[in-house]
Amino acid sequence: MPGGVSSSLRAMDPPRVFVRAKGQHVWDADGNQYVDYNNAFGPVILGHTDPRVEQKVHETLQEIDILGMGAMELEIRLAERIQGHVPSMEKLLFCNSGSEATYHALRVSRAATGRRVLVKFQGGYHGWHDYIAANVTSRADRVGRLDPISAGMLPDAMENLVVLRFNDVAQLEETMAARGDEIAAVILEPVMHTIGCVPPSPAFLEALRRTTAEHGTVLIFDEVVTGFRHHLGGYQAICGIRPDLTTFAKAMANGYPIAAVGGRADLMDHFNTRPGGDVMYGGTYNAHAVGVSAALATLDVLEADHRAVHRRIYALGDAMRAGLEQITDRLGLTAKPTSFGSVWVCYFTDREVRDYDDALTNDAELYVAFHRGLTDRGFLTVPINLKRNHISAAHTDDDIARTLQAAEDTLSGLAARRVRPGRAHAPAGSAAPAAAPQPVAPATRR
Ligand code: PMP
Repeated sequence: MPGGVSSSLRAMDPPRVFVRAKGQHVWDADGNQYVDYNNAFGPVILGHTDPRVEQKVHETLQEIDILGMGAMELEIRLAERIQGHVPSMEKLLFCNSGSEATYHALRVSRAATGRRVLVKFQGGYHGWHDYIAANVTSRADRVGRLDPISAGMLPDAMENLVVLRFNDVAQLEETMAARGDEIAAVILEPVMHTIGCVPPSPAFLEALRRTTAEHGTVLIFDEVVTGFRHHLGGYQAICGIRPDLTTFAKAMANGYPIAAVGGRADLMDHFNTRPGGDVMYGGTYNAHAVGVSAALATLDVLEADHRAVHRRIYALGDAMRAGLEQITDRLGLTAKPTSFGSVWVCYFTDREVRDYDDALTNDAELYVAFHRGLTDRGFLTVPINLKRNHISAAHTDDDIARTLQAAEDTLSGLAARRVRPGRAHAPAGSAAPAAAPQPVAPATRR
C-alpha cells in the first residue's frame, strides 16, 4: 500500500493504525482511545458499529447477499423510503460511492442536454473522476484557472469545465447568460463542506435554480455529505430548492458502502436499466444487500422519535461552536468557530467564510496545529487545513465538554507561542446558538 493507507487524505503523521471502532470511539493498535470527530469524513451519523444497523445487516445476510439478476425486494423498499423523504427523487438508482453517483449524474446530464460543458464551484469536491476533479483545495496562485487534482487526467475534461465562485450571484448570472446554452449541468455541494462549512446564500440558491431552468441546464445537488446528515430530506428540504438531480452516499447507511443518484424522471429514464435507455448504468455490487439493509436500518433510526437523532446532533454541534467561541474569545484569538448542524470547524480568520477566497484567509498552520493537538489529547480530527469535523448521535454532552477543555488547552499553548502584538481579535460573539436546524445561514458569530 503506497503510503500505507487506502485513500489519499488518510495519511497521518505519525502514522496510526486502528483496530476498533465503537460508538463515538476508535482505538489504535497502541491501545489509545480517541473520541472520533472525523467519522470517516461524514458517514457515521449514529456512531460506529451501531448495534441496530449491525443487527439488520447480519439478519439480512442470513437470507440474501448479491444476485446480479432482477431486483431485490429490499432495494425496492429502500428506493420507496428515500423517495418518501426526497420528493425531487422521482426515480433513483443505487451505486456504491459518491464518486460513482456524481459520475452518473454528470454523464446523464450531458446525454439528456446534448451539451458538454460542466460548471462547478471553487472548493467543492465531487469525486475523483476526470469529469470534475479540479479546483478543490487549490493553492492561492491556482485560483482563477483550471487546477486538476490529479496527473493523468484527460485535457478534454478540463476544457469542458467552468469553475465559478461559490455564492457569487453576479458571476453565475453572467456565465449562464453568456454560455448557458452550452452548459449541461451545474453541480454543487449545497453546503460546501469540503472547505469546512460554507452555506449558500438564499440569493445564490435562487439564482442557481432560476438560471439553470432558463437555459435547460441540469442543476445537481451533490448531497453526499449533507444528505441524511442535516435532514432526512437532504439540504434541499431545509432550503426549499428542488434540484433536477441529487447524489447521496455517506450518512445514508451510517458508513456502509452505498450511494444513490436520482431526480427528474425524464432524466433518469435515460439510464439503460430501462429498456431503450441510452446512458450506460452498471455495477456488480450496485444495491448489494449489505448497503441496502444498512441504509434501511439507518433510516429507521433517523425517522424514530420525531427525528430525535437530528435534534440531538444539531444541539451538540451548537454546543461545540458556542464553546469554541468562548474559548477563542478568552484567548484573544482571531477565529470564526462555525457549524451547521453536526458539522463544525474552527476557522482562524477574521472573516465569515462565504467562498474559497475567504477560506484562503484561514491560518492553515494554526488550523492544522489545533487538529494535531486535539488528536494528541485523544480527540481525533483530521490534520489537514479546512477539513471539517462530524458529530454522531453517540457523542455525549460530556464528550463535548471534554473536547472543549482539550481545545482550550491546545489553543492556549498555541496562542502563547504565536502572540503577535497588535493583532486584533474578533469581537465577542452575539449569535445565540440555534435550537433547531437553521434554514440557510451558517451558525457562526457575526
Ligand atoms: N461528493 C462530496 C460532496 C464528497 O464529500 C465526496 C467524498 N468526500 C464525494 C462526492 C465522493 O464520494 P466517495 O468518496 O464516496 O467517492
